[in-house]
Amino acid sequence: MRGYILEEEKPFAKRIAIDGPAGSGKSTIAKRIAEILGYLYFDTGVMYRAVTLAAIDQGVDINNEEEVTSIAQLVNIDIQPARIEDGRAFTVLLDHEDVTWKIRSPEVEAFVSQVSAYSGVRQAMTIRQREIGLRNNVVMAGRDIGTVVLPEADLKVYLDASVEERARRRYQESLSRGEETSYEEVLNSMRTRDYVDSTRDHAPLRAAEDATVIDTTYMDIEEVVRKVFELVIGTVPKS
Ligand code: C5P
Repeated sequence: MRGYILEEEKPFAKRIAIDGPAGSGKSTIAKRIAEILGYLYFDTGVMYRAVTLAAIDQGVDINNEEEVTSIAQLVNIDIQPARIEDGRAFTVLLDHEDVTWKIRSPEVEAFVSQVSAYSGVRQAMTIRQREIGLRNNVVMAGRDIGTVVLPEADLKVYLDASVEERARRRYQESLSRGEETSYEEVLNSMRTRDYVDSTRDHAPLRAAEDATVIDTTYMDIEEVVRKVFELVIGTVPKS
């Protein structure tokens, strides 16, 4: 990719964790960095979204931790390269059905934090995510990658931004997909999700002690990509 030069003989980070709240830019940045490096891009949020969708579709009461957990343990989630050109970064299959856009619905958004707070759900997802992370050169995006999923990551980045700016970004995304929603609705849903994600008992949203925190409120995507890329090439891999 133009403007980003990798010196072959110089070792740099192989496993990269990018954490942060919704709308902090982590998925966009993780995807760009993975493209530049030729690494696997893995957005772990889609797994929690897929479990949530499966629970909704099966008519399970989201308050029933046992049933939701058993869905998380049994469900088949597959993430494949995008073969359809409709703006997707990859295709998400839930029990072989393409749910790439369905997992972005406001309904899933309303329940996903509750589902992902269940310890059994986290356990089931963390095992699968860790396996993928250890097998590949990867840029993994989520909430707990640097703290729980891949604590041995070579580089940990925590992206943040004001909740108003994050809601503005998500609102723009929904508009561009033609969804009917209001900025206030997006802002409220984001505030609730932030609260549940950062106060849960298991793997709460927080920056790892050895993470580099970047506030992206006043930065554009290119600036953040450049900053993270500099961190990547300045980081010697641990193994
Ligand atoms: O990143 P995204 O907004 O798609 O994540 C959806 C939800 O999944 C988050 O609000 C959070 O509750 C949960 N999640 C998580 N751990 C991750 C990734 C996502 O708990 N590693």
